[in-house]
Amino acid sequence: MDTSFFLAWIKEAATAVQAERDHLTQLDAAIGDADHGANLDRGFAAVRQALADTPPETPGAVLVQAGSALIRKVGGASGPLYGTAFRQMGRALGDAPEITPAGLVTALEAAQEGVQKLGGAAEGDKTLVDAFAPAVRALAQAVQDGAKLEDALETATTAAEEGARATVPLQARKGRASYLGPRSVGHEDPGAASTALIFAALRRAAGQA
Ligand code: ADP
Ligand code: MG
Repeated sequence: MDTSFFLAWIKEAATAVQAERDHLTQLDAAIGDADHGANLDRGFAAVRQALADTPPETPGAVLVQAGSALIRKVGGASGPLYGTAFRQMGRALGDAPEITPAGLVTALEAAQEGVQKLGGAAEGDKTLVDAFAPAVRALAQAVQDGAKLEDALETATTAAEEGARATVPLQARKGRASYLGPRSVGHEDPGAASTALIFAALRRAAGQA
């Protein structure tokens, strides 16, 4: 995976977030403040602008720049969380021009660690960690088993989507939704839903490469 692969990922993620903007906002309307779709759409638009203004030369630079733009542009919980995820990933990639599947796994593990350190959420707290963690786990396993990158990312995407769906019966213990207590039960977590979109975008980028 080279720099253009990671740029393709960002482009796919931005397109998906824009297409699902209203859906993400509806999910956030049920258990939050109805801004998640708008937040991420604004954030990814800023990311694409930043990448166009200052074209990065390495995969790591793509992701560090993306994360920085998200932190700059998105208020609320998700901007710093996704921003940290992309920045940590980019840092883990260093200045390598080409990333192996094992390198991608290590970087995503670093991203997950960054998110959990910043937000303090564990799996089961009904946050984006509930999609992120199983996706990273599934990807690590598939890569270790020698799966083709596309297939490994398909498995990871499925795990993220299942993780997002599995947030429905949970009661939120972190973030704004936790203020609702038991009334947060019965709704999908918006951040888990957007994390599944971002993994699906990664899968599509691999299909183009
Ligand atoms: P805000 O809650 O500030 O309005 P968003 O609506 O953009 O921000 O994002 C809400 C999402 O952020 C939630 O659905 C959840 O997935 C995620 N989130 C909130 N707090 C945390 C946390 N502490 N750790 C991980 N994810 C979190
Ligand atoms: Mg919100």
